[in-house]
Amino acid sequence: MTIGIPRALLYYYYFPLWRSLFTNLGHQVVVSAPTNGEMLEEGIKQTVSEICVPIKVYNSHVIELLKKDVDFIFVPRFVRNNGREWYCPKFLGLPELVKYSIPEAKEKMISFDIHPKIDDTFDAKDFLPLCDYLNVSKRDLKNALKKANEDFLKFRAFMEKGYDFERALSALDGIDNPPPFKKGALNILLIGYVYNIYDPLVSMNIIQKLRDMNVNVYTFDMLNEKFIRNPKEKGKKIYWVFTRKIYNTVRRMLLDDEIDGIIHLTAFVCGPDSVVGKLFELDCDKYQKPFMTIRVDEHTGHGHLQTRIEAFVDMLKYKTKNAM
Ligand code: SF4
Repeated sequence: MTIGIPRALLYYYYFPLWRSLFTNLGHQVVVSAPTNGEMLEEGIKQTVSEICVPIKVYNSHVIELLKKDVDFIFVPRFVRNNGREWYCPKFLGLPELVKYSIPEAKEKMISFDIHPKIDDTFDAKDFLPLCDYLNVSKRDLKNALKKANEDFLKFRAFMEKGYDFERALSALDGIDNPPPFKKGALNILLIGYVYNIYDPLVSMNIIQKLRDMNVNVYTFDMLNEKFIRNPKEKGKKIYWVFTRKIYNTVRRMLLDDEIDGIIHLTAFVCGPDSVVGKLFELDCDKYQKPFMTIRVDEHTGHGHLQTRIEAFVDMLKYKTKNAM
């Protein structure tokens, strides 16, 4: 059978695990195309207007997979991690957001709740409903998940060497293309959710734009979870899973002299970011770390983004030159 995976939201974090799991259960994985303007238009038409752009993007990928006529579309509901950190409410309501926006998707959706006990590793219990959806035994599920966890940890190890998502995925598939870090270049921490920073349309390829300006780019998923969980100075306790990851990353990297500046890429009307965005501003101000917020929605243009990041990079270059 063909299992469609929308190239959106946590695809940019968990895809290696999902791909390995479904493939090892004997199914073919089909991924929607990279987001483009036409796809997004369709997602926007079928989604309530008040919601953040990543959810509109997600719906556009579900529509794309329906056109590809896959047998199933995987729409998991991530609930909480470690028994105490919750996902953003949009993740909690994702299956409903999809099926009430796109009724044709309802019959094809594989949806169930996932709440892993520890970050980055899953238990067979988390995926048990797959036995019914795909008619597989618990033993087969357990074996497939064991391999999927191994593949995912290999992928995470590449990320922790500084690979970005696409590079780490290629490296997992045997095509090693090391990250282009340059000596003497500026180092910028690009903070934001994986589905914003890696989506080519939402991010307007900000990582490549920065690299073209001779900047080394670091993201939160390049850092080890244990490392970011232990900032030198304790900050606020953040409630949402990925928001806590980005907040802890900023707390960790604020005191790192190698980081010249921080850019926060956020989506318009993101609730959790309205909280941590302010904390980032206050913390960066306190530690004198140059900081800029870029807020994107479906109308943001390339020219606007290019001008803002060019100005930020020029300011950092000027500051670094004068500090010598
Ligand atoms: S964290 Fe923000 S951007 Fe992400 S799904 Fe929730 S509201 Fe949308």
